Amino acid sequence: MYFPLDLTFRMARYIACQKICRVPKFPLVLMLEPLHRCNLRCSGCGRIREYADTLNQELSVEECLESVKECNAPIVSICGGEPLIYQNIAELVERILQLGKFIYLCTNGQLLEEKLGIFTGLAAVNRLVKKRLYWNVHLDGTAAFHDGITGKPGSFDKAVAGIAAAKHAGFYVYTNSTLYRQHGVESSVEDLAKLGEILLPLKIDGMMVAPGYGYAAVQSSEEFFLTREDTHKIFRSIRERMRQSPKTLRLTATPVFMDFLCGERELPCAAWANPTRNIRGWKSPCYLITDRHFETYRALIDGTDWTKIGFGSDVRCTDCLMHCGYEPAAVLFGTRLSDLIRTAVWQLG
Ligand code: SF4
Ligand code: SF4
Repeated sequence: MYFPLDLTFRMARYIACQKICRVPKFPLVLMLEPLHRCNLRCSGCGRIREYADTLNQELSVEECLESVKECNAPIVSICGGEPLIYQNIAELVERILQLGKFIYLCTNGQLLEEKLGIFTGLAAVNRLVKKRLYWNVHLDGTAAFHDGITGKPGSFDKAVAGIAAAKHAGFYVYTNSTLYRQHGVESSVEDLAKLGEILLPLKIDGMMVAPGYGYAAVQSSEEFFLTREDTHKIFRSIRERMRQSPKTLRLTATPVFMDFLCGERELPCAAWANPTRNIRGWKSPCYLITDRHFETYRALIDGTDWTKIGFGSDVRCTDCLMHCGYEPAAVLFGTRLSDLIRTAVWQLG
């Protein structure tokens, strides 16, 4: 099973309630960035570049909680920057769990082994910690690929040691990999399969794989980022490998989202379902590109023209097939009976 049943049922119930109440736009995952500071400097990272002049600022725990309550998404993805260097991370995690939310804690894993004790200590007093706190560890391939992207030799080994420690402690752990054009289609897929083999004995719960997309903040370069056609090609090849070796490549992409990545299905961008809150406010229109920041979640939803985003509507979206816009769309619009059956069978896999 890719995701815990508790999470699956809660999400299904939440979506059904929103649809019954005819809420036109509602959040699934809040992308909460308490800080943008990081202990790595990856080539493809937009955050440390776009927010270079506010890298020393942080949201307070109270500001974070206010945003969690206002937005009220069932899942909070704590990202950044590197959340494990946020001083109040344990308090933030505990208080978000007390609000009844699920948490993806996105980390580059460099401090995971060292800081895991904070969370196992929390788990001793709060039984929800291991059930609802899921680690999402950044790994852009095997050591050669990953360390090349982070620019730090040994960063792969450190992240893998963190994953092993978190699994050993009984947490759900997922990996998060971005594929880049510079490695080419065949070698990217080959390397991802090798990464799956390395992670297999650690029994990770799934791999999130994203097609690297170039936008202004990362100074888009044609050699570095995937085009739409590259992404289709690469994911078709990944799907073929998954058929041959389903245990090694456990991608968290649902079948509908996978169809989209392979270029076999159209989906609208639903960036409104994954809003981003950071030090400057609520980022519009999406996690990737920025036109402005709003003061409140409501202002973001009401003040953004959602008809003007996505493939064919905004030229900046031409090569984007990213999770933040299209994965919620796969959940919200992949509702044909055949989609629901395929998704249920996949979830049990
Ligand atoms: S680890 Fe994440 S936040 Fe840090 S530089 Fe790399 S991509 Fe950016
Ligand atoms: S397609 Fe959606 S998620 Fe992608 S860049 Fe455009 S607005 Fe953002």
